This record gives sequence, structure tokens and C-alpha cells, in this order.
Amino acid sequence: QAPHTLYKRVLLKISGEALMGEQQYGIDLNVAERVAREVAEAVKNGTEVCLVIGGGNIFRGLSVAAKGMDRAAADYMGMLATVMNALAMQNSLERIGVPTRVQSAIPMTSIAEPYIRRRAIRHMEKGRVVIFAAGTGNPFFTTDTAAALRAAEMGCEALFKGTQVDGVYSDDPRKNPDAERYEQLDYLQVLAQDLKVMDAAAVTLMRENAVPIVVFNIHKPGEFARVLAGEGTCTTIGE
Ligand code: UDP
Repeated sequence: QAPHTLYKRVLLKISGEALMGEQQYGIDLNVAERVAREVAEAVKNGTEVCLVIGGGNIFRGLSVAAKGMDRAAADYMGMLATVMNALAMQNSLERIGVPTRVQSAIPMTSIAEPYIRRRAIRHMEKGRVVIFAAGTGNPFFTTDTAAALRAAEMGCEALFKGTQVDGVYSDDPRKNPDAERYEQLDYLQVLAQDLKVMDAAAVTLMRENAVPIVVFNIHKPGEFARVLAGEGTCTTIGE
């Protein structure tokens, strides 16, 4: 019988846009609930899961800064957007019976725990999903970098990036039918070819700590659990 999971602990990063569904802005609760079911299945199969969710569906610091706002202030607003997404995802997870804790890199103790590394690990050991909110807590960073940082801190065996397509392609598969999916890439290829998977800081951090990045389709039902069991479609970035 095939193993239910090859991984003891992973971090799943999804962008804010992944929660948007067909909308132009904000959170589609139906989509959040579908993503929650993906996470629930992984937890049920024995993988400890922590999450980082972006904020681009609500606020993107860089694009607002480009219109004249102070970059640091805009980035703090972006980090607050990730807190909203984290609370929405916590709600969706708990509705289907998955105990969840939100930990924020910017202390907001009325709505989330402050980020405490050892406490986050303890939550996961108890079967709780931990959602890391507010990115790294620092402007000029992204939630990709936050995901890489937390994956390293949590001792995750891999950083899973849930996207709209089932891996990294030679070109945009939604525009170019001849685009080919890579099965395996190494970190330096991703950096040298500037493949738009995660930002360079995140890829570099994962390379330095030898944590593989697994890119897969978060919108395909059951796919997260299949990829965790080594059976799904994905691109693996490693040495
Ligand atoms: N952000 C930040 N520091 C961090 C993480 C995020 O300043 O450590 C801000 C930044 O302005 C970013 C916004 O939060 O534009 C939303 O995050 P991101 O763009 O990474 O979200 P995604 O593209 O994954 O939806």
C-alpha cells in the first residue's frame, strides 16, 4: 500500500490571489474552504502543516508605493492584509474541524498569538495547523521570503508552493500550449533563469538550508495530499 505521506512537517505557501477565486479583489469564502479541505486532508494523513498566506488580493505594498506612498508604510499595510487572510483561513479550517492557531509577526494579541517559534512547533506537534501572519514583520520583504524563513525555522522538510498551475513551466502554460513542465530544477537554475516561482531571496534561503521547494496546483482537489504522498504532479526544486 502506498504511504499516505512522505513528509512529517511542511510549510504551505499560497498567494493572496489564490483566495480571490473569480473575484477581482478580496476573499472568496468558497475558495478558502476548498483550500482548507486540502490542508485538512494532509493533516489527516499524518503531515504537520503550517501556512503562510500572501496579501496581494487585498493590498500589495510595492504597487501602492509606486503611486507615491512611502514604501515602508505601504508594506506595513500589505502585512496587515495578510492578517485578514490568515483569519479567514483560520475560520475556514475550524469550520471543518481542523484546530488552528494564527501567529502574527507583528504582535496583535487580541486577534492572534505573537510569533513564538517553539510554541508554533508545539502547536504542530499537537496536530494544530499554524498560520503565520504579517509576513516577516519587516517592510521590503515578501510573504515568499516569510514562507522560506518560517519553513527553515520550523524544520520543515519542504516548502510547498500552491499555485494556479501544476508546476514550473518553460513558459506560461495558460498562454503558450507548447510550454513544458519541469519535473526537477535546481535552485541555481531558478535563480539564473529568473523563473518566476518565488522571489530570489526565498529561493536563496531555501538553497542555503537545503530545503526543497515543491510547486503544485492548489486548486486541483486532493492534489496537496497526493503530492505529499509522492503521487501528484509537481515541480521539485532542490540541489
Ligand atoms: N510584506 C512585507 N513584509 C513581509 C511580507 C509582506 O512588507 O515580510 C508586504 C508587502 O507590501 C507585500 C504585501 O505585504 O506586497 C503582501 O504580500 P505579498 O505581495 O508577498 O503577497 P502575495 O503576492 O503572496 O499575495
